[in-house]
Amino acid sequence: MKKVAILGSTGSIGTQTIDVIRNNEDLELVAVSAGSNIRMLEEQIREFHPVLAAVWEEEKAKELRLLVADVIPECRIVSGMEGLLELATLEESDILITAIVGMIGIKPTIAAIEAGKDIGLANKETLVTAGHIIMPLAAEKKVSILPVDSEHSAIFQCLNGERDNRIHKLLLTASGGPFRGKTRQELENVTVEMALKHPNWAMGQKITIDSASMVNKGLEVIEAKWLFHVDPSQIEVVVQPQSIIHSMVEFEDGAVIAQLGTPDMRLPIQYALYYPDRVYLNGERLDFSKLTEITFEKPDLNTFLGLQYAYEAIGTGGSMPTVLNAANEFAVSKFLHRNISFLEIYDIIRFCMDEHRLISNPTVEEILETEHWVYETIERRWKTCGIHS
Ligand code: NAD
Ligand code: MG
Repeated sequence: MKKVAILGSTGSIGTQTIDVIRNNEDLELVAVSAGSNIRMLEEQIREFHPVLAAVWEEEKAKELRLLVADVIPECRIVSGMEGLLELATLEESDILITAIVGMIGIKPTIAAIEAGKDIGLANKETLVTAGHIIMPLAAEKKVSILPVDSEHSAIFQCLNGERDNRIHKLLLTASGGPFRGKTRQELENVTVEMALKHPNWAMGQKITIDSASMVNKGLEVIEAKWLFHVDPSQIEVVVQPQSIIHSMVEFEDGAVIAQLGTPDMRLPIQYALYYPDRVYLNGERLDFSKLTEITFEKPDLNTFLGLQYAYEAIGTGGSMPTVLNAANEFAVSKFLHRNISFLEIYDIIRFCMDEHRLISNPTVEEILETEHWVYETIERRWKTCGIHS
């Protein structure tokens, strides 16, 4: 029996992880958590009887206690960062699925590694900003960081059995998102609704916007650098609009190994939970008698500046990936609240990267201070320039 704790169990990755657990008797859900969606947490607690539930807001935690106390008294309900840390280090768990969104995942992920838990890593923002701390720590504590992001899971699968064979190149595939092929001018007036319409994947709002701006692919380049110990110059982004090839590895002899499948996040989630085993997954399969084409394009780096900025940030290193990520988190939230236009996401990232004074090897505290600096810098700029309310 493998015991699973989920950081962010009510989101897109969280609920799909629960689906995998529901369909496999040898997986047990021991802890759930959410920002504020206590209705869904209540359902999850009633169905799975976990020992712990963490809710970010204490008020909501109180409400949830009232909702479940009489039926499931054995489930402890905690709140705030302390609650997330308790969930991450829970004695009863074997693996933590980090399905939370944003840099808030840094501390719980590090705490889980310190406590010897394996990590099923979906929360890429954590690796983007703190990869230099997390990867050595995981090696020291002998815990596995198992990628859940579909591209990284694909690469992980392609590397199976290759032992010491050197990677020549990683070919990270991208769908291109809803705005593939558009010019910068055409992106000027795109709306939140248009950006949220991803052609192939149904995901949380933040990553869906990141996919439209291709900042997501930029974050994934940085994520891949840390997971697979390659230089960013060895990572090539290939647009593969049908999302059938989930990524590829080219070896020294020129052989390219790819992983293919229908776009279904349950596969990488399940692979992380069962690695190195494969178990049956009840889902749509690729049908090669119906598949008409798998096509490729070069990404348009001049229009989708997110990818270009990410290569620049990881090239600079230190605290720069944190600046890229924090500025993006802030900008995406403003875009979703309709306070800025789509292209201003890039302007905000650019502005912060230009203003930043680099910290070469930031500690966790310095990473979080940098996040704070980014937020303050953007707010100050807005107030003085009066661009937006
Ligand atoms: P989502 O918005 O659907 O879900 C986020 C989850 O985090 C929710 O359960 C929410 O309640 C929880 N959460 C947010 N703030 C919290 C807080 N302060 N305290 C406790 N819980 C909090 O997001 P998602 O699409 O599932 O993405 C999660 C992560 O996985 C992101 O880092 C994303 O980049 C990555 N990812 C997602 C997909 C996908 O298909 N959705 C694919 C690859 C990678
Ligand atoms: Mg991905």
